Amino acid sequence: MTFYKDPQEMLNNTQLINTFVELVKMDTQSKEDAPQCPSTKGQLEAQAVVKNKLISLGLTNATIDEKGFLFATLPTNCNSKITIGLLAHIDTSAEASGTNVNPQFHKNYAGKDIVLTNNITISPTDYPELLKCLGDTIITADGTTLLGADDKAGIAEILAALEFFKQHPEIQRPHIRVGITPDEETGSGVANFDVARFGADCAYTLDGSFTGDLCYETFSANKGVITITGLNTHPGYAKDKMISSIRYAYRFLEELPSDQRPEKTNGYQGFFHPYQIEGGVGKTTITMLLRDFTEEGLEEKTRILNEVKEKILKEEPKLQIDVAITKQYRNMKDHIQARPEVLEMAKKAMLATGIEPDIRPIRGGTDGSSLSERGLPTPNIFAGFEAYHGPKEWISTKVMGLAVCHIVNLMQLWAK
Ligand SMILES: [Zn+2]
Repeated sequence: MTFYKDPQEMLNNTQLINTFVELVKMDTQSKEDAPQCPSTKGQLEAQAVVKNKLISLGLTNATIDEKGFLFATLPTNCNSKITIGLLAHIDTSAEASGTNVNPQFHKNYAGKDIVLTNNITISPTDYPELLKCLGDTIITADGTTLLGADDKAGIAEILAALEFFKQHPEIQRPHIRVGITPDEETGSGVANFDVARFGADCAYTLDGSFTGDLCYETFSANKGVITITGLNTHPGYAKDKMISSIRYAYRFLEELPSDQRPEKTNGYQGFFHPYQIEGGVGKTTITMLLRDFTEEGLEEKTRILNEVKEKILKEEPKLQIDVAITKQYRNMKDHIQARPEVLEMAKKAMLATGIEPDIRPIRGGTDGSSLSERGLPTPNIFAGFEAYHGPKEWISTKVMGLAVCHIVNLMQLWAK
């Protein structure tokens, strides 16, 4: 078996960068709280473009379902019995504009600040990975939009690997199922992912950042909604009558552990993150994210919320406090550890590509969290983008080439 380690080989022989540029120029920003999936029309238009590319690369069964999921198959060329999924998402974050993305090529990067329009400065002081890219070509947007390498780099890399397989029928591969998914950034798309129809034994999301990035642990996530009901009266005659839910909402937040906030935690620490509060004297609602890496840690957070509730009710028994917890997603670690070969193969493929795996927990969720829970173990592997979701987003073409090498090597290993 020949392992591929030279990113330049992929850059020279595939449409990797052309495809990437074509895709980032399409506005596929997704939208929170949209009633339909995909949330925006731009995503469907881009899916149609990617579908045609998959067909021209020889994939079969290319379909876009009514929810905007694009699936296609590259059959094995060696009687492999296994089906491996390669996933990437078509949408871009709503945190920065994705309209009229104008990719800039910074050739032969020399380690200095990259300055874009609006004085947007991408500095190696903030992004030390830049210093690992000396001599590379760095692609950025022009300072007015995000780049959308998250996750169009992932899509372009999958397509380039498929193109390489087409040029090299002698390279053995398993059945490959490609899935390009909508509405990843809003978190709302994945519920519509038809795991049975996708029909893979395991999958990888090409949605990680720098070279070697390999994630199989995510937060476990609940949402908490605290509804505090007081009593509103005329403020001039409120003595001993008014019970201001606004003041008790403040009390409630003050009682939460001050060291368990997003701005005070990292690594494997969880947090309470109240992100929305609305209401008036009579009724106030606090909405918060509850995050931890373990089920026990999450349960502990629910327990604390109920303790705070009881404590405040003792102070003012006429209040009503309702604590409602809903499940969002779960750490995919257990599901992936139940199938250790899924992770082992990605590590092996990285080493074969000359890359040291960089395994870190994701302090967030990925589509893989939900898919793994539903029986499709799906760790996340590097696509190369940095500073994503904003105008400083950048990617090295060399890292993209390496990502293609890694996909090719990973598929070879699975075919064995
Ligand atoms: Zn992404």
